Amino acid sequence: MLIHSNGQVLNYPPAVKNWSINHMSINSSALPFHLTDLSYLSLNSTLADLPTHEFEINPHTPGHIVATTFEDKPTLPGVIIREGDTVSGAFSRRKFLEYMGRPYGVEVFLKRPIQVMLDKINQPYLMLSSDCPIHDAAEMALRRPLDLFYEPIVITYPDHKVRLLDIYILLLAQSQLLTISYQLEQKRRHFAEALQKTGQVLTSSLNLAEVPQRILTQVTQVIYYERGSVWLRKENYLELIAQRGFPKDKRVNNLQIMIHTEQDDVFRRMMDNHQPIVIGDVVKETSWQQVDWLPLHHAWMGVPMIAQNQVIGMISLTREAPHSFNYHDAMWVLAFAGQAAIALENARLYNHIMDFNDHLEHMVTERTSELNQMYGILEKLNQTKSDFITVSAHELRTPLTIINGYAQVLTTNPTIQADENIAAMIDGILNGTNRLYQIVNSLLDVAKIESNSLGVRPEPIVIANLIEPICDKLADDLQNRQLTLAATNLNQLPELYGDVDLLIKVFYGLIINAIKYTPDGGKINVTGHVTDAQAVEVVVSDTGIGIDTAHHDLIFEKFYQTGELALHSSGQTKFKGGGPGLGLAIAKGIVEAHGGQIWVESSGYNEQTCPGSRFHVSLPLAN
Ligand code: ADP
Repeated sequence: MLIHSNGQVLNYPPAVKNWSINHMSINSSALPFHLTDLSYLSLNSTLADLPTHEFEINPHTPGHIVATTFEDKPTLPGVIIREGDTVSGAFSRRKFLEYMGRPYGVEVFLKRPIQVMLDKINQPYLMLSSDCPIHDAAEMALRRPLDLFYEPIVITYPDHKVRLLDIYILLLAQSQLLTISYQLEQKRRHFAEALQKTGQVLTSSLNLAEVPQRILTQVTQVIYYERGSVWLRKENYLELIAQRGFPKDKRVNNLQIMIHTEQDDVFRRMMDNHQPIVIGDVVKETSWQQVDWLPLHHAWMGVPMIAQNQVIGMISLTREAPHSFNYHDAMWVLAFAGQAAIALENARLYNHIMDFNDHLEHMVTERTSELNQMYGILEKLNQTKSDFITVSAHELRTPLTIINGYAQVLTTNPTIQADENIAAMIDGILNGTNRLYQIVNSLLDVAKIESNSLGVRPEPIVIANLIEPICDKLADDLQNRQLTLAATNLNQLPELYGDVDLLIKVFYGLIINAIKYTPDGGKINVTGHVTDAQAVEVVVSDTGIGIDTAHHDLIFEKFYQTGELALHSSGQTKFKGGGPGLGLAIAKGIVEAHGGQIWVESSGYNEQTCPGSRFHVSLPLAN
C-alpha cells in the first residue's frame, strides 16, 4: 500500500518490464550541510528541507554501475524504480541486496529478466510530496508495520523530480523539531510566567507618574532592547511619557511624534491596524521621522497599547544593529503591551477619580464653610430673637401687672360694680390681661428652656394628682364643647420625681390642645402605664382632626403651627382655636429637662374622618 502525503492511499505501482539501470547519483555529499546537522530546521520546515538521495533504476540501467556505486555510498537508503516519468516502485538497500545481490550478485541479476523479480522488489514504499510537514511525514513513516520500517520514503517534487529520504534522517529531523517545540514551549512558559509577574508588578501601582517607567523596566523581562520609550496617544500625535536608555538631554521631555494622515505613515498604520510594526532598518523607511539629536538605532519595533479596543499609546523599542528584531519578538511584546495598557488605563482612571475626589472634597469644604457661616448668622439671629422675646416678655409683664392690678381694684369698687356694663368691661379687661399673662409666661418659659435655666425642682409626685385638678379646671370648657375627658389607670402608676408646676404645664397644654383640635362631642382620654424601660408613660389621646405625619417632629418646635393663622388666639378652648405655637415646644423642653421623652402618634390630618392624635410623655422612674 502506498500513502501519499496528502493522506491519499495509492495503489501498488504497475509491473515494469525490461528493467535496466540507466542513472544513479547520490547527491547528499553535494548538500551544503552535514547529514546530522539539522539545526537549520524550523517548525514550518517540510520534507523539501531535508537532505535526500537519488538512485534510480529503469529497464536500461547497466547492472555493473549499480552495484559499484551502491556499495560506495553507505548512506544511500535504497533505490527508486522509474519508467519514464512514473515511479513504479522503490525498495530499500537491504532488500536490494537481499533480492538482487544474492545469490548471483547484482550484475548477474540485472542481466536476468527483471519481470521474474517484480513481485518481490515492489515493496510497499511511502510516497510523500515535498511540501509535507516533517512531523506529519514522520508520523506516517512510523505508522508502517515494523517489517516495512526500512522501506524507502520517496519524495515527489513539483517539477516531477523524485528523491529518496532516509528514515533516520526523517526521525532525526522530527526529534530536532520536538526539541525546537520543547524549547519554544519552555520559552512560552517562561514568557507566561514573566507576563504574570510583570502584570502583578504593573497593576500593583496606580500612580500615573510611576506606571510608564515600570512598563519599560518590566519589558526587559520579555525582550532585550537598547532604547525604549512609552508614548501616550493624543489627538494626532504621540507624547513621550517615559524613556529608558535615552541620552541625558532636556529635549527628551518634549518629544512628540506626529501621526500623519497618509496611509504609509508608520504610526498611522499602527493606529489603524492595531498591530505591531517591525522595521529592519529605519534608514530605509521613507516615512521614518528620525530625531536628529538621537544616536541612530537601525532596528525599531513599535507595539500598540490597546485598551477597550482603542490604541491608547505605544511601546517603542530600538536596537542599534539593523534587522535585530523579528516579528515573533513583536508578538511577545504585544502580549505584554496588553498588560501595560490595562495598568496605564487603571492608573489614568484612578488619577481621574482622585482628581474628582479632590474636586469634590474642595467643594464640600467650601460648602461646609458657607453653611457654617450661614449657621453662625442664623444662630446670631436666633439669639437676637430669643433676647428680644425675653426682653419684650419682661417689659410686657410690668405694664400688664399694672393694668391687671388696677382692673382688680376696679372690680372691688362698688360704684363700678353697680353699673353692669362697666363691670362687664372690667371683666373683659381682666380676661384679656390673664390671657396676655399666659402668653408672656409661655415666652419666658421658652427663653428659660433655651438658656437651660428652667430650674427643675424635683419632689415625689403622683401623676393622678397632677391630672385631676386640670380636669376640674377645664370642666366648664369641656361641657361647653360637649367633650368627655376620662382619666384611666392613673391611680395604679408608681410615684416618680418631678417638678409639679412644670409637669402640670405639660399635661395642661396637652389636654388644652386635645380640646382645641377635637370637634364638639369628641372624646379625650388620659391614661398611663409603666414601660419595660423603667418609665411611666402617660398618653393623652383624642378623637380630633389628627396631625399630618410630616409635621410630627415640627410641631415640637417653637412658634410652629399647622392651623390657619387667622384663627389664632381666638379662644383657648375653641375648636381649632390656635395659639402662639409654644405649647408643645415648652412641653418638650420640660419633659426633656426631666430626662424624659415626648412624641406624637397620628395616622394623619383629616377633619372629616377625625383620626385623632395620641401624645406620649415618658418620664423616668426614680431609682
Ligand atoms: P398652638 O399654640 O398652636 O396650639 P402648640 O405648640 O401647642 O401650639 O401646637 C403646635 C401645633 O400642633 C398646633 O398648631 C396644631 O396644629 C398641632 N396640634 C397640637 N396638638 C394637637 C392635637 N391634639 N390634635 C391636632 N393637632 C394638634
